[in-house]
Amino acid sequence: MTADVVVVGGGVIGTSIAFALASAGVKRVVLLEKSALASGASGRSSALVRMHYTNVEDARLAWASYPLFRDWTERMDGPPVFRRTGFLAVVGPQDAGALKSNVEMLRGIGIDTVALSPGELKTLQPFVNVDDIGAAAYEPASGYASPADVVEGFRRQAQARGAQIRQWTPVTRILRRESAVTGVETPSGRIDAGAVVVAAGAWAPRLCKEIGLPLEARPKAIDTMLVTRPPELATPHMVVIDHVLGTYFRPESDVLTIAGVPCQVWDVDPDTMPTGLPPSAPIEGAQLLTQRFPAMERAELARGYRAFDCYSADRHAILGAAPGIDGLYLATAFSGSGFKIAPAVGTCMAELITEGRARSVDISAFRPARFAEGKLIAGPHPYKPRRDHLEPAR
Ligand SMILES: Cc1cc2nc3c(=O)[nH]c(=O)nc-3n(C[C@H](O)[C@H](O)[C@H](O)COP(=O)(O)OP(=O)(O)OC[C@H]3O[C@@H](n4cnc5c(N)ncnc54)[C@H](O)[C@@H]3O)c2cc1C
Repeated sequence: MTADVVVVGGGVIGTSIAFALASAGVKRVVLLEKSALASGASGRSSALVRMHYTNVEDARLAWASYPLFRDWTERMDGPPVFRRTGFLAVVGPQDAGALKSNVEMLRGIGIDTVALSPGELKTLQPFVNVDDIGAAAYEPASGYASPADVVEGFRRQAQARGAQIRQWTPVTRILRRESAVTGVETPSGRIDAGAVVVAAGAWAPRLCKEIGLPLEARPKAIDTMLVTRPPELATPHMVVIDHVLGTYFRPESDVLTIAGVPCQVWDVDPDTMPTGLPPSAPIEGAQLLTQRFPAMERAELARGYRAFDCYSADRHAILGAAPGIDGLYLATAFSGSGFKIAPAVGTCMAELITEGRARSVDISAFRPARFAEGKLIAGPHPYKPRRDHLEPAR
């Protein structure tokens, strides 16, 4: 069999790329997923859709992606996937100046966001404890999405445009002749292709290593718990990224709240990692949750799980042509933050493959070679590093 482009991986990134390639008129797009679609990070994603970043590159991708979530029904001909709740990024007093600078940067891109004082935040969400907060960034239009429905929509529309989506079909090897990719090998045969996109999430480092391409990325576990909200918090709160506590909270349906629990478990094997939470995680999650929302004292644990994603050395995605191997493209290492940018990543990768350059958003900063060049992605006004982005102390 021969394809124009093979996409390896059927998460939100792979399906978005397949959809964008087929939409751009590429005739023979084949997406291969070793398991079921959305069975990796994408199906477990908390799927916050927000624009607040401390670097302009990610913010531009998030901003370019947002309209598709918002206008999903009209543009993707499917049920709505996005719930608008409003979004808050909160920081401690030492980061208040940086937050104001970042809000200015984001407003310069066109994003509707303002900086709030702790008092203004309290007026907006009276049940939030603001004692340790120096400032908040507010985005009224942001919220969260249903990750499985987004992947399903990309699948449906990619197939409608002629893409082949094959589940339960692992790529056992990427094939190359000298410095060019020639296709992929699967248990049901070889597929010849001049272009192969690695969108294999936490499996990408292993897949790339097998063809002699080291990736500056490692799989890391991510812990999540859900609680039922007490009656006094019955109305859903906003989505909150909490840079003071190093976590995030968002409503799920009308009765639950999702809380991220900082997790520093690196180099997990995504095929064998236990998906249950360690007993310490709900305890820590409850402490964080009640510190920010004191009324959550009366919340009840509903469930929790461990998932994973692929984290790069600078905690930003790796996007672009693989150095030294013609026809091989990388879209991976989204570092716990790839869901919200998936629509624009799909479009940009399709442009890169078909036209040689991403036109919609400049993704050159995400190029795989940046690590070797020492040009890591970092905005000028970073916040205190998140605990779960750090290596554990040895
Ligand atoms: C708990 C959690 C919460 C998150 N919250 C957010 C959030 O709020 N906002 C946000 O923007 N991001 C969030 N993220 C991050 C985001 O979900 C991920 O960055 C994104 O889903 C990555 O998508 P992906 O397609 O690259 O990877 P995946 O979804 O992991 O997909 C990769 C796919 O490749 C397949 N595959 C691997 N190897 C092969 C092979 N050899 N052959 C064929 N198929 C293969 C796998 O089976 C898998 O389905 C969160 C992630 C997690 C885990």
